[in-house]
Amino acid sequence: MKQISLLYHDVVKNENDAGASGFPGADADIYKLDEANFSAHLARIAELGQDRVQVVGRGGELSAAGGAPVLFTFDDGGVSAHEPTARLLEARGWRGHFFVVTERVGQPGFLSREQIVDLHRRGHHIGSHSHSHPSRFSQIGWEKMVHEWKESRRILEEILGQPVWSASVPGGFYSRQVARAAREAGYTVMFNSEPDARVSRVEGLVLLGRYGIQRQTTPELAQSLARADFLPRASQAVTWNAKKPLKKIGGKLWLSFRRWFFKKS
Ligand SMILES: [Zn+2]
Repeated sequence: MKQISLLYHDVVKNENDAGASGFPGADADIYKLDEANFSAHLARIAELGQDRVQVVGRGGELSAAGGAPVLFTFDDGGVSAHEPTARLLEARGWRGHFFVVTERVGQPGFLSREQIVDLHRRGHHIGSHSHSHPSRFSQIGWEKMVHEWKESRRILEEILGQPVWSASVPGGFYSRQVARAAREAGYTVMFNSEPDARVSRVEGLVLLGRYGIQRQTTPELAQSLARADFLPRASQAVTWNAKKPLKKIGGKLWLSFRRWFFKKS
């Protein structure tokens, strides 16, 4: 089955306010949408039909009714998840997936324990985005990977008082070993950052790709992605795959390439 998961981060008042939520710095700011733009994304996606937006089940269950399901996912656990993101989703009857960096819980700019509990109570999905968000997750080694996933899951389960079984991969540094480590740590569903609409099974996990949204992503483009149009998805795949060899060569080189690339674009 085809699914369209959209990968968002923070929603902030305006570009000057980007430091208020999530990780600081120019690299992170690229992914922070201002509230007006995010609201416009929601409006355009709503035109595709209210029931398209879904939350994934523990075994990767999604309903195909009304076309390819659209999933809103938000990485990092910045405090904007609680306000305005969740409120804006709820105003349309939707719920989101929020992936939390557990080491940051309660720190300035990040969700508090109470806010995580509140999001969960309001029907949003809470998952792990690792414990400490290592910059090159696929290269930290097996022991550390398992620890990152386990520790994060332990903390979230302690906060929520119930099982946590989903994860999203920090920085898009996915490998089969990353998936295997998450399975070892008890997760059943994983989101990576591969621009891919398939739902696949890898290393005993249900794996979902995601389409990345940046500050300059227009509402029209977000709608086109959500509609599963071929062109914008293919163009993300081309860009992503062009970057892959760089990611393999080394994270440092990749990170400076990314900085250079986004300055240009
Ligand atoms: Zn992240």
